Amino acid sequence: MSIYEELGIRPIINASATLTRLGGSLMPPEVIEAMVEASRHFVDLDELQRRVGEELARLTHNEAAYVSAGAAAGLVLATAACITGTDPAAIRQLPDLTGLKNEVIVHKSHRNGYDHAVRQVGVKLVEIGYATGTAPWELERAINERTAAVFWFQGAMTGRGDLPLETVIEIASARGVPVVVDAAAQLPPVENLWRFTQMGAALAIFSGGKDLRGPQSSGLVVGRKDLIEAIRLNGNPNHSIGRPMKVGKEEMVGLLAAVKRYLALDHEARASQDEEVVAGWCAALNQIPGVKAERSFPNEAGQPLPRARVTFDAAQIGLSRDEVVARLAQGTPSIAVALAGADGIYLNPMTLADGEEQVVLDRLLAVLQG
Ligand SMILES: *Cc1c(COP(=O)(O)O)cnc(C)c1O
Repeated sequence: MSIYEELGIRPIINASATLTRLGGSLMPPEVIEAMVEASRHFVDLDELQRRVGEELARLTHNEAAYVSAGAAAGLVLATAACITGTDPAAIRQLPDLTGLKNEVIVHKSHRNGYDHAVRQVGVKLVEIGYATGTAPWELERAINERTAAVFWFQGAMTGRGDLPLETVIEIASARGVPVVVDAAAQLPPVENLWRFTQMGAALAIFSGGKDLRGPQSSGLVVGRKDLIEAIRLNGNPNHSIGRPMKVGKEEMVGLLAAVKRYLALDHEARASQDEEVVAGWCAALNQIPGVKAERSFPNEAGQPLPRARVTFDAAQIGLSRDEVVARLAQGTPSIAVALAGADGIYLNPMTLADGEEQVVLDRLLAVLQG
């Protein structure tokens, strides 16, 4: 009996995305082996964080790097670091911002659930811009002596009416204000691990538990040496705002193993394999009357991997879209898919193990022809 069956939990085939609520992603053997090995010995945690950080920085062509307890914890620590620097009194004072910088600038169009992690430090978000456009003067006027940082949430929501990231970096840097890029789900392309910081962003933050396939509770922060040092001081095991966001020795070496694997991966082969899966799904599903399947690109996070968008004519197939989704979830095995508009779903090969693409297709065909 599997550990999940014993608990009465049904494993799910994830044809949706690298969603935290489904478990993020699955760790490859080399990541698990590194974590198991790390679990066998005591080490000096602060020393390990520094060494792993050095390796991660070297591998990702950055000045410095830090392993956080997920990208969201990276957002908390990055915010704290931009406020306190390495000042021990300021670090101890958080989240009380009396006398400290207490504003973070963000495009109104970038507001999203994850900015709670930034607000958790007690700062006020100062919004700039409209969906129709943002003028450089809006950012210039928003910056003042209370500004700790400008946050940029890279993703599917960026680009519509925003200032270009280059402009944000230029304006903020000229005034000594760091730009922090939340790029949690912005892999692939692998080059994003150094692209934002090479553009001049002070820090870039990635989830370890999404496409990197590291530990689900890990995150990677890369960027400026002084800010990474400030993050380290604001983080575990120091008594600080980051103390509750503990990163274990296993997560640290697990993320390092995951990044090494990711850098060595044949990303072109991986993308063309996903294209083949999507093409195969579309060809089979388009045989069914009342079903239309087509390639959708880029993916939900705006990244360059394909999905299949499958729309249903409820009258013709005799099922609503929601009934199709429910039957996939309740069937054996249980399959999770993403919703597309009012009458469709997305099928995503990104999070499937080899062979699962056929299981997903067979189950969907069975539901549609049921
Ligand atoms: C997933 C995600 C996060 C959080 O990442 P975790 O590693 O789960 O903490 C933050 N920001 C964005 C935009 C994300 O997509």
